Amino acid sequence: MITGTHRPSKVLVDETAILHNIQHAKAQLKDDTQLFAVIKADAYGHGLLRVARVTQAAGATGFCVAILDEALALREADYTIPILVLGIISPETAALAATQTISVPVGSKAWLEAALPVLQANPDQPRLRIHFALDTGMGRIGFREVADLIDAVDYVKAHSQWFEIEGIFTHFATADEVDTTYFNSQVDKFHQYLAALPERPKYVHVSNSATSLWHAACNGNMIRFGVALYGLNPSGRAIPETPYQLEPALQVVSELVFSKIIHAGDAVSYGATYHAKRDEWIGTVPMGYADGWLRRLQGFHVLVDGQFCEIVGRVCMDQFMIRLPKDYAPGTPVVLVGTSGDEKITLQDVADYSDTIHYEIACSLAERLPRESI
Ligand code: PLP
Repeated sequence: MITGTHRPSKVLVDETAILHNIQHAKAQLKDDTQLFAVIKADAYGHGLLRVARVTQAAGATGFCVAILDEALALREADYTIPILVLGIISPETAALAATQTISVPVGSKAWLEAALPVLQANPDQPRLRIHFALDTGMGRIGFREVADLIDAVDYVKAHSQWFEIEGIFTHFATADEVDTTYFNSQVDKFHQYLAALPERPKYVHVSNSATSLWHAACNGNMIRFGVALYGLNPSGRAIPETPYQLEPALQVVSELVFSKIIHAGDAVSYGATYHAKRDEWIGTVPMGYADGWLRRLQGFHVLVDGQFCEIVGRVCMDQFMIRLPKDYAPGTPVVLVGTSGDEKITLQDVADYSDTIHYEIACSLAERLPRESI
């Protein structure tokens, strides 16, 4: 992907906001609880290496990523703190993870059996650090029976030259919801697994952002802190109260590249779905669905000079049009996410209009948009 550095459309990342969010999260934690920053998917669209730097400076003692390549990119950039991959890696890559001291989740004995010969073929590397994943109700990865976990623990003990049990964890499906019934059932199951374990590993962890915000008593000794570090409320709008103020870090900005007056009946964009009702000033913004500014945002708005301007006609791949209150010259700033004058558009607003969650909007912002720290 080629990044558009010669175009005014960009993502701005407020490093101070990230610092603030991490520091407040850490202030809530017990002394023995560590914060691992979840920086998968290019740090939820905010830029992997930038957020790695800021979160480590703010006191994160480890990173969580989704795939092995993200972990390798961090090692390549000389980050030496613990890194946990959250998704199951291919057993064929077990030796690569071990060499780079990257920790991985294990959700079945079969995975261990498949990884063993790969590790044995590379005898000089450190042991592979594993975290047992428990499926207490998320239905995604992990052991679903206590007996299967114990069987896997025994297998690891019998092959302790190759594997090191570093952690055990689960993931909650409803920690961001008001009704805690399902959440509590997952907590109970997790405790049943823990009770059956002969000894506790170094890291016992269950908390994503929502759990750390609203169920801190469950935290264990490490939290996997993701969306809230970017200043986003994990519940969207469902639970507005957070124990500390979250500061959104991401803004999306551009500039008008073209403006013109059109007359009653004139159409705008593909399909000619929009027709001017009278003389109207129409501006063109150089960003489109190839940048992650979704096609379904037709009818939504952006900010120009502190005023909401409707997106008229279909969003194109690389451009979209807005109705301006008056003539504004090319070069006029356009705020897609952020503040202009007294008005504000949040990622949650964009998500609501697009019938999705802010996570998806942030992660969809394409690599074509440069990221700049502010
Ligand atoms: N832990 C796991 C296993 C995850 O999959 C995720 C994100 O999807 C997180 C932690 C971080 O969640 P959040 O961004 O809601 O804090």
